[in-house]
Amino acid sequence: MSVKLKDLATKLDSSVEELQKLLREWDFTYDEKKLTVDSDIAELLEDELGTTKSSVEKLAEQMNENLERDIIKKQRKKTAGKDTSKKTSGADKNLKVEVLEIGDAISVKELAEKTGVSAAKIIGELMKNGILANINQLLDYDTVAVMMSDFGVQIKRKSSEGSADDFLSKDIDAIIGEEDSDDLSDRPAIITVMGHVDHGKTKLLDTIRNADVVSGESGGITQHIAAYQVTRKGKKITFLDTPGHEAFTEMRSRGAKVTDIAILVVSATEGVKPTTIEAINHAKEAGVPIVVAINKMDLPEANPEKVKSELVEFGLQSEDWGGDTIMVPISALKGEGIDQLLDMILVVSEMQELKANPNRKAVATVVETHMEPGLGAVATVVVNTGTLKVGDPLIAGDAYGKVKAMWDDKGDRKKSAGPATPVVIAGLSKTPQAGDIVQVMDSEKNAREQAVQVEAVRRDDALNAKNIVGDLVRQIQSGELKVLKVVLKTDTKGSFEAIKQSLEGIKHEEVMVKVIHSGVGDITESDVMMASASNALLLGFHVGVSQAIERSAEQRGVDIKIYKIIYKMIEDITRILSGLLEPEEVVVEHGTAKVKEVFFTKKSMQIVGLKVETGKLVKGATLRVFRNDEQIGEGTIQTLKRVDKDVDEMKAGNDCGIQYTGQVLLENGDKLECYEIEMRERSL
Ligand code: GDP
Repeated sequence: MSVKLKDLATKLDSSVEELQKLLREWDFTYDEKKLTVDSDIAELLEDELGTTKSSVEKLAEQMNENLERDIIKKQRKKTAGKDTSKKTSGADKNLKVEVLEIGDAISVKELAEKTGVSAAKIIGELMKNGILANINQLLDYDTVAVMMSDFGVQIKRKSSEGSADDFLSKDIDAIIGEEDSDDLSDRPAIITVMGHVDHGKTKLLDTIRNADVVSGESGGITQHIAAYQVTRKGKKITFLDTPGHEAFTEMRSRGAKVTDIAILVVSATEGVKPTTIEAINHAKEAGVPIVVAINKMDLPEANPEKVKSELVEFGLQSEDWGGDTIMVPISALKGEGIDQLLDMILVVSEMQELKANPNRKAVATVVETHMEPGLGAVATVVVNTGTLKVGDPLIAGDAYGKVKAMWDDKGDRKKSAGPATPVVIAGLSKTPQAGDIVQVMDSEKNAREQAVQVEAVRRDDALNAKNIVGDLVRQIQSGELKVLKVVLKTDTKGSFEAIKQSLEGIKHEEVMVKVIHSGVGDITESDVMMASASNALLLGFHVGVSQAIERSAEQRGVDIKIYKIIYKMIEDITRILSGLLEPEEVVVEHGTAKVKEVFFTKKSMQIVGLKVETGKLVKGATLRVFRNDEQIGEGTIQTLKRVDKDVDEMKAGNDCGIQYTGQVLLENGDKLECYEIEMRERSL
C-alpha cells in the first residue's frame, strides 16, 4: 500500500517538497511521479517523527551531525551486562522468534521477515540511533544485536562453517569462528600423557581409567576407545588414551590443538631420558602447561630429587624448589599419588579458564579412527565446542557422513555429547586422519561437497610435496616470520653445542633462529613430526636418515638437510634468512664431436662440418675446443643443421653442420665438448 505525500505532509504539518527532500536525503525510495511512499515508510515517518515539523527538523539536524556510531556505542554500553534475552517493554506481540541466529550481517527486510518486527519499526529504531537505513540496507551483527534487544529478540551469532582451507590447515579457531562470551561455559580439561618409553604412561592411563570404572552395559563397540573421562571432586577430566607424543604432535600438527594440559611421566629410577626432553619441547612449542608425574615411587631406588634437579636444566622447576611446575610423586602400579595428581590437574585447568559453548553445532577433533566390523569407518572424537548429536551431518577432514550412532568411553550408546566429551561415532564415508577436524554442517550435501574439496587438495598436496624452504623465504621477505625454527640432530653432543651456538648466533635484522628440539643420533620419525608440527627445518649433522623417514618427511612437507661441514649449514641458514637463495650454476655436459671440415671462415665466424661422437650437440650451447688433447679455447654453436634443415639437437653418430663463433678458429681434427650452464633454483 502506498500513501500520498500530500496527505502525509498535511498530517505532519509539512510540505511535499520538504518530505521529498528528507526522503532523498535518507535514501528512502518513493514514487517520484505519483508522489507516493510505501506505507511502511509513511508509518515510520508518522510513528517515529511525531506530527510536528519541528521534530522532523530536529532529527534531520541530529543526523547531519553524523552521530551514528557514537550513539550506537553509547547504547551498547547501556545494554552491556544486561540480560538481553529479557523482553523489554518494546516487545512486539507479532514476534515470530525470541532468539535469532544471524551471520555477520543481515538486511532490514530479512530481519523484519524473520523476527516479525515490522521493517518500519526497525528503520525507526535505527533512525533513533542516528542510522539512516532503507529496507535493503545490510546491518552488521553488533548493531542488530543491540537494537533487537529492545524488541525482545535475542540475537546470536550463527556458527560459521569452516572452508576447505580451514580443514586442510586444521585451523580449528577459524572453523569454530567467533563466539559470544555470554554463550560460553566451563568445560573439562583435555589431558595428554607423555614421557619416555617404559616410564609408565600406559600404566598411569590404565590406573586412572580403572579407578573410575562404573559398571555399565557394553553398547556394542568392540574396540577400546582412544580417550576417556573421569570424575574427580564432581569435575570431569578428559584423557587422551594415546600415550606418546606422536599422537600429540599429529594432533597439533598445523593448528589442531586439542590438549589443554600435558602430564609428563618421568621414572623416579631412570630420570630424564631423550624422549622426556622431546616431550618437554613438544609441550612448550604447543604452549601447553606441563604437570610432572614422578612415577615408580614404590621402587627402593626411586630418587625424585634427582629427577627434579635434572628437569631444572630443561626449564621445569618444581614448586618446592621455588619454581612453578607442579610435580607429583606417584606409583602408577600401586595407585599411589593418583588422587593428588588429578587434584593438581583440576588446579591447572581452573587457571586456564577452559570454556566452550554447549549450545551450538559441534566442532570436534579426531583422536583415532579405524574400520569396525559391521559399522564401517568409526572415529573417536573429542568435542571441542558445541554438542554433537546422533543424526548430525558432518565433515571430518576429507570424510563426511551423518552420525548414525554414538558411544561413550564405557561403550554405552549416547544421543549427544557436549564439550570435551570423547565419543566414538559411526556413519563416516571413510576413516579420517587423527587430528582432523570434525564440523557439524547444515546438510549432508554441504558436508560431502566440502569433503570432496578437502580430498582433492590433499591429493594434489601429496603429489607436489611442499617446498617449505621457499615458503620460509617468502614469509621472511614479507615479514611474517619472526623465528626460524630448527630441529637439529647431531652425531655427538660436542658438535651439537657448537652448531647450536653458531645457528643461534646468526645475525639477521628481523628473524632469529631457534633450535626447538635437538638430539644425538639418526633422524627419526618423531623428529619429522616435530618439524612438521612446528613448521621447522630439520637439520642433521653427520647423521643418517632412512628412506622411510625421507618419504614420511616428503609427505609431511618437511625438508631434511644433512650436512657434513658446519660452515655449510650456517651458510645455508644465513641465505634462507636473507631470503637470498640465489639460483645455482650447474654445468650440464651434453656430448662430444670432432671437426671433419671447415667450409667457411669470416673473422670469428665459421661454418664447420662435424661428427657427433658421444651424447649430443645442442644449439646455443658452448663448445670447449681441444687440439692435441689440450683445451685451446671456447666457442658457441650459433646454428645447427642436418643437411639443409635447422635442428635444435644432433645425436651421437650423425654428421652435421654448425655455424660457430669463438675465440679460437676451428681446424680439422679438433675435438669439441659441448656443454651448457643452467641456472637451477637452489633448494635446501
Ligand atoms: P610406557 O612405555 O611409558 O607406556 O610404560 P608402561 O606403562 O608400559 O610401563 C612400563 C613398565 O613399568 C611396565 O612393566 C609397568 O608395569 C612398569 N610400571 C609402570 N608404572 C610403575 C610403577 O609405578 N611402579 C613400578 N614398580 N613399575 C611400574
